[in-house]
Amino acid sequence: MYNPSMRRMMVVTAHPDDEASSFGGSLRLYHQRGVETCVICLTPGQAASYRGGARNDQELGAMRREEFAAACKILKVSLAAVLDYPDGQLHRLDLQRVVSDLTLRIREFRPQVLVTFDPAGGVTGHTDHSMASVFATLAFHWAGRNNRFPDQLSGSVAPQRIQKLYYATADFSLPGRQPITLPPATAIIQIGQHLETKIEAFKAHTSQQPLWSLFEEYARKRGDCEMFHLAASVKAGPVEQESDLFAGVSED
Ligand SMILES: [Zn+2]
Repeated sequence: MYNPSMRRMMVVTAHPDDEASSFGGSLRLYHQRGVETCVICLTPGQAASYRGGARNDQELGAMRREEFAAACKILKVSLAAVLDYPDGQLHRLDLQRVVSDLTLRIREFRPQVLVTFDPAGGVTGHTDHSMASVFATLAFHWAGRNNRFPDQLSGSVAPQRIQKLYYATADFSLPGRQPITLPPATAIIQIGQHLETKIEAFKAHTSQQPLWSLFEEYARKRGDCEMFHLAASVKAGPVEQESDLFAGVSED
């Protein structure tokens, strides 16, 4: 299920294209640094406004699963999965069910670092992004405890105490939208030339072509860095400004 000799990073997103837009540069960068990466996308994005010619939700979902796979290939993601939860409806789901699902995936992949959206839902403030944050945050805390979902613990599946939890954040807002109160950036990751890879990965989402130019404009304005907020860490104490999500992480 996982390679025990490698450092591992898991990213939890809501929709196909989030992996590129919010985490793409860092996913590609950490692959280059020898980190095994995993993206869990909660929905196939079947409620999107831009439909890419799909005749119904099922067709759009199938199309977007393929686009997600293509984007993850560009970002050299080691393990990429789109789950089957309903796009636009994550706030209506049973909390235990989704957190249990994510907890099991954490216990199987055994990341040292977990990255997701912040509870505000990132610059778009999308409710699904907020819910991805809530589910992933609880899964982060519960995956390490043997009294949470104990029925999962048998054979090779053991509790996994992840060392760090990060929320993606930004220092800009989108025009014409309600203001979003984002968490402060405590880690700034220089993604260098992977800005181009990230834009290329976003453009693997052919059905979302009407968003390409707006995305590229903002990605270039943001430049060659991605910002994160350290939300939890096994090493408690004052926060230091970081330039590496794996700073201080041990390989176990
Ligand atoms: Zn999204």
